[in-house]
Amino acid sequence: MFTNPSISESPVMAGRRNQLVAELRQKGIADEQVLQAIGRVPRQLFFPKDFEQFVYRDAPFPIGHGQTISQPYTVAFQSQLLQIKPGDKVLEIGTGSGYQAAVLSAMGARVYTIETVLSLLKEAHKVLKILDNQLQCFHGDGTLGLPASAPYDAIIVTAGAPELPKNLTDQLAVNGRLIIPIGDQPDSQTMYRFTKNADGTFKKESFGPFRFVPLKGKEGWN
Ligand code: SAH
Repeated sequence: MFTNPSISESPVMAGRRNQLVAELRQKGIADEQVLQAIGRVPRQLFFPKDFEQFVYRDAPFPIGHGQTISQPYTVAFQSQLLQIKPGDKVLEIGTGSGYQAAVLSAMGARVYTIETVLSLLKEAHKVLKILDNQLQCFHGDGTLGLPASAPYDAIIVTAGAPELPKNLTDQLAVNGRLIIPIGDQPDSQTMYRFTKNADGTFKKESFGPFRFVPLKGKEGWN
Protein backbone atom coordinates (compact mmCIF):
# COMPACT_ATOMS: atom_id res chain seq x y z
CA MET A 1 0.00 0.00 0.00
CA PHE A 2 1.18 3.53 -0.77
CA THR A 3 2.38 5.55 2.19
CA ASN A 4 3.48 9.14 1.95
CA PRO A 5 7.16 9.16 2.84
CA SER A 6 8.42 11.47 5.52
CA ILE A 7 10.79 13.26 3.20
CA SER A 8 11.93 16.72 3.99
CA GLU A 9 11.02 18.99 1.12
CA SER A 10 10.94 22.72 0.85
CA PRO A 11 7.57 24.48 0.62
CA VAL A 12 8.77 25.54 -2.83
CA MET A 13 8.74 21.92 -4.05
CA ALA A 14 5.29 21.27 -2.56
CA GLY A 15 4.05 24.49 -4.16
CA ARG A 16 5.42 23.50 -7.57
CA ARG A 17 3.71 20.11 -7.28
CA ASN A 18 0.36 21.80 -6.58
CA GLN A 19 0.95 24.04 -9.56
CA LEU A 20 1.63 21.01 -11.75
CA VAL A 21 -1.67 19.46 -10.64
CA ALA A 22 -3.45 22.70 -11.56
CA GLU A 23 -1.69 22.74 -14.93
CA LEU A 24 -2.73 19.13 -15.68
CA ARG A 25 -6.32 19.97 -14.76
CA GLN A 26 -6.18 22.92 -17.15
CA LYS A 27 -4.84 20.65 -19.91
CA GLY A 28 -7.90 18.42 -19.55
CA ILE A 29 -7.04 15.77 -16.94
CA ALA A 30 -10.32 15.47 -15.04
CA ASP A 31 -9.95 12.28 -13.01
CA GLU A 32 -9.65 13.35 -9.36
CA GLN A 33 -8.08 10.03 -8.35
CA VAL A 34 -5.26 10.67 -10.83
CA LEU A 35 -4.81 14.33 -9.86
CA GLN A 36 -4.72 13.44 -6.16
CA ALA A 37 -2.12 10.74 -6.78
CA ILE A 38 0.11 13.17 -8.70
CA GLY A 39 -0.38 15.60 -5.82
CA ARG A 40 0.93 12.99 -3.37
CA VAL A 41 3.98 11.52 -5.16
CA PRO A 42 7.22 13.50 -4.70
CA ARG A 43 8.54 13.45 -8.28
CA GLN A 44 11.96 14.68 -7.09
CA LEU A 45 12.63 11.18 -5.68
CA PHE A 46 12.60 9.81 -9.25
CA PHE A 47 14.55 12.64 -10.82
CA PRO A 48 18.27 13.02 -11.49
CA LYS A 49 20.03 15.01 -8.76
CA ASP A 50 20.99 18.65 -9.45
CA PHE A 51 18.04 19.37 -11.75
CA GLU A 52 15.60 20.54 -9.07
CA GLN A 53 14.14 23.33 -11.16
CA PHE A 54 12.91 20.83 -13.79
CA VAL A 55 11.17 18.37 -11.43
CA TYR A 56 7.66 19.81 -11.69
CA ARG A 57 7.78 21.02 -15.29
CA ASP A 58 5.32 19.25 -17.54
CA ALA A 59 8.02 17.72 -19.72
CA PRO A 60 9.89 14.44 -20.10
CA PHE A 61 13.48 14.38 -18.77
CA PRO A 62 16.51 12.13 -19.46
CA ILE A 63 17.27 9.57 -16.72
CA GLY A 64 20.32 7.94 -18.36
CA HIS A 65 20.72 4.87 -20.61
CA GLY A 66 18.93 6.80 -23.37
CA GLN A 67 15.68 6.59 -21.39
CA THR A 68 13.35 9.27 -20.03
CA ILE A 69 10.97 9.86 -17.16
CA SER A 70 7.63 10.38 -18.92
CA GLN A 71 6.02 13.81 -19.12
CA PRO A 72 3.56 14.25 -16.21
CA TYR A 73 0.72 14.89 -18.68
CA THR A 74 1.42 11.53 -20.32
CA VAL A 75 1.56 9.78 -16.92
CA ALA A 76 -1.76 11.38 -15.99
CA PHE A 77 -3.34 10.59 -19.38
CA GLN A 78 -2.36 6.91 -19.31
CA SER A 79 -3.33 6.59 -15.62
CA GLN A 80 -6.75 8.04 -16.41
CA LEU A 81 -7.31 5.58 -19.27
CA LEU A 82 -6.53 2.64 -16.94
CA GLN A 83 -9.76 3.25 -14.91
CA ILE A 84 -8.21 1.83 -11.75
CA LYS A 85 -10.28 0.84 -8.75
CA PRO A 86 -8.44 0.53 -5.42
CA GLY A 87 -7.08 -3.01 -5.10
CA ASP A 88 -6.80 -3.62 -8.87
CA LYS A 89 -3.78 -5.65 -9.90
CA VAL A 90 -1.81 -3.61 -12.43
CA LEU A 91 1.21 -4.56 -14.54
CA GLU A 92 3.49 -1.83 -15.87
CA ILE A 93 5.94 -2.49 -18.72
CA GLY A 94 8.91 -0.09 -18.55
CA THR A 95 9.64 0.89 -14.92
CA GLY A 96 12.16 3.55 -15.99
CA SER A 97 12.46 6.04 -13.13
CA GLY A 98 9.61 4.36 -11.20
CA TYR A 99 7.47 7.52 -11.16
CA GLN A 100 4.51 6.05 -13.09
CA ALA A 101 4.55 2.98 -10.83
CA ALA A 102 4.42 5.25 -7.76
CA VAL A 103 1.45 7.16 -9.20
CA LEU A 104 -0.40 3.86 -9.80
CA SER A 105 0.36 2.82 -6.23
CA ALA A 106 -0.95 6.16 -4.93
CA MET A 107 -4.16 5.43 -6.87
CA GLY A 108 -4.58 2.29 -4.75
CA ALA A 109 -3.37 -0.28 -7.30
CA ARG A 110 -1.37 -3.40 -6.45
CA VAL A 111 1.55 -2.74 -8.78
CA TYR A 112 3.85 -5.14 -10.65
CA THR A 113 6.43 -3.41 -12.78
CA ILE A 114 9.02 -4.81 -15.17
CA GLU A 115 12.12 -3.15 -16.67
CA THR A 116 14.75 -4.44 -19.06
CA VAL A 117 17.63 -2.13 -17.96
CA LEU A 118 18.82 -3.60 -14.65
CA SER A 119 20.57 -0.47 -13.34
CA LEU A 120 17.41 1.63 -13.87
CA LEU A 121 15.32 -1.00 -12.13
CA LYS A 122 17.68 -1.04 -9.13
CA GLU A 123 17.52 2.75 -8.77
CA ALA A 124 13.73 2.76 -9.09
CA HIS A 125 13.35 -0.12 -6.63
CA LYS A 126 15.29 1.76 -3.92
CA VAL A 127 12.70 4.52 -3.97
CA LEU A 128 9.59 2.46 -4.69
CA LYS A 129 10.10 0.11 -1.72
CA ILE A 130 9.99 3.14 0.60
CA LEU A 131 6.66 4.33 -0.86
CA ASP A 132 4.98 0.93 -1.14
CA ASN A 133 6.50 -2.15 0.45
CA GLN A 134 4.17 -4.44 -1.52
CA LEU A 135 4.99 -3.06 -4.95
CA GLN A 136 6.90 -5.68 -6.93
CA CYS A 137 9.77 -4.92 -9.33
CA PHE A 138 11.00 -7.40 -11.95
CA HIS A 139 13.91 -7.44 -14.36
CA GLY A 140 13.18 -8.83 -17.82
CA ASP A 141 11.47 -8.45 -21.17
CA GLY A 142 8.08 -6.93 -20.51
CA THR A 143 6.74 -7.91 -23.94
CA LEU A 144 6.47 -11.40 -22.43
CA GLY A 145 4.37 -9.97 -19.60
CA LEU A 146 4.60 -11.56 -16.17
CA PRO A 147 2.63 -14.80 -16.43
CA ALA A 148 3.25 -15.88 -12.81
CA SER A 149 0.93 -13.19 -11.42
CA ALA A 150 -1.58 -13.00 -14.31
CA PRO A 151 -4.36 -12.14 -14.95
CA TYR A 152 -4.17 -8.36 -14.47
CA ASP A 153 -7.05 -5.90 -14.14
CA ALA A 154 -4.98 -3.41 -16.09
CA ILE A 155 -1.70 -3.34 -18.04
CA ILE A 156 0.16 -0.16 -18.96
CA VAL A 157 2.99 -0.06 -21.50
CA THR A 158 5.19 3.04 -21.14
CA ALA A 159 7.35 2.53 -24.24
CA GLY A 160 6.34 2.65 -27.90
CA ALA A 161 5.42 -0.75 -29.37
CA PRO A 162 5.51 -1.75 -33.08
CA GLU A 163 2.46 -3.98 -32.56
CA LEU A 164 0.16 -5.36 -29.89
CA PRO A 165 2.10 -7.98 -27.85
CA LYS A 166 -0.03 -11.14 -27.66
CA ASN A 167 1.41 -12.13 -24.27
CA LEU A 168 -0.06 -8.98 -22.78
CA THR A 169 -3.57 -9.46 -24.17
CA ASP A 170 -3.43 -13.09 -22.94
CA GLN A 171 -2.59 -11.91 -19.42
CA LEU A 172 -5.48 -9.46 -19.17
CA ALA A 173 -8.53 -10.34 -17.03
CA VAL A 174 -12.05 -10.12 -18.48
CA ASN A 175 -13.01 -6.41 -18.41
CA GLY A 176 -9.26 -5.68 -18.06
CA ARG A 177 -7.74 -2.65 -19.81
CA LEU A 178 -4.46 -2.57 -21.74
CA ILE A 179 -3.10 0.93 -22.41
CA ILE A 180 -0.37 0.91 -25.03
CA PRO A 181 1.22 3.36 -27.48
CA ILE A 182 1.66 1.65 -30.88
CA GLY A 183 3.28 3.04 -34.02
CA ASP A 184 5.15 1.90 -37.10
CA GLN A 185 7.99 4.35 -36.28
CA PRO A 186 10.09 3.78 -33.11
CA ASP A 187 9.50 7.37 -31.95
CA SER A 188 5.91 8.13 -32.91
CA GLN A 189 2.81 6.34 -31.66
CA THR A 190 -0.95 6.46 -31.20
CA MET A 191 -2.32 5.71 -27.73
CA TYR A 192 -4.72 2.76 -27.61
CA ARG A 193 -6.93 1.17 -25.01
CA PHE A 194 -7.91 -2.49 -25.48
CA THR A 195 -10.65 -3.75 -23.16
CA LYS A 196 -11.16 -7.50 -22.93
CA ASN A 197 -14.68 -8.81 -23.51
CA ALA A 198 -16.01 -11.97 -21.84
CA ASP A 199 -15.68 -13.90 -25.13
CA GLY A 200 -11.95 -13.01 -25.38
CA THR A 201 -12.39 -10.36 -28.10
CA PHE A 202 -11.34 -6.74 -27.52
CA LYS A 203 -12.91 -3.33 -27.68
CA LYS A 204 -10.28 -1.03 -29.26
CA GLU A 205 -10.24 2.75 -28.72
CA SER A 206 -7.61 5.28 -29.86
CA PHE A 207 -6.55 8.49 -28.12
CA GLY A 208 -4.30 10.47 -30.41
CA PRO A 209 -0.56 10.87 -31.03
CA PHE A 210 2.18 10.45 -28.41
CA ARG A 211 5.95 10.07 -28.45
CA PHE A 212 7.67 7.38 -26.36
CA VAL A 213 11.09 5.72 -26.36
CA PRO A 214 10.97 2.38 -28.21
CA LEU A 215 9.73 -0.81 -26.56
CA LYS A 216 12.49 -3.40 -26.99
CA GLY A 217 12.29 -7.16 -26.65
CA LYS A 218 10.75 -10.19 -28.31
CA GLU A 219 7.52 -8.45 -29.35
CA GLY A 220 9.12 -5.00 -29.49
CA TRP A 221 11.72 -3.21 -31.65
CA ASN A 222 15.06 -5.01 -31.77
N1 SAH B 1 7.35 4.52 -16.76
C1 SAH B 1 8.61 5.23 -16.81
C2 SAH B 1 8.96 5.75 -18.20
C3 SAH B 1 9.87 4.83 -18.80
S1 SAH B 1 10.58 5.12 -20.36
C4 SAH B 1 8.67 6.35 -15.80
O1 SAH B 1 7.66 6.62 -15.14
O2 SAH B 1 9.74 6.93 -15.63
C5 SAH B 1 10.37 3.46 -20.97
C6 SAH B 1 11.14 2.39 -20.25
O3 SAH B 1 10.80 1.15 -20.86
C7 SAH B 1 12.66 2.51 -20.34
O4 SAH B 1 13.19 2.52 -19.05
C8 SAH B 1 13.07 1.24 -21.10
O5 SAH B 1 14.31 0.73 -20.66
C9 SAH B 1 11.92 0.31 -20.78
N2 SAH B 1 11.73 -0.81 -21.72
C10 SAH B 1 11.87 -0.81 -23.06
N3 SAH B 1 11.57 -2.03 -23.55
C11 SAH B 1 11.22 -2.82 -22.49
C12 SAH B 1 10.82 -4.18 -22.35
N4 SAH B 1 10.70 -5.00 -23.40
N5 SAH B 1 10.54 -4.63 -21.12
C13 SAH B 1 10.65 -3.83 -20.03
N6 SAH B 1 11.03 -2.53 -20.11
C14 SAH B 1 11.31 -2.03 -21.31
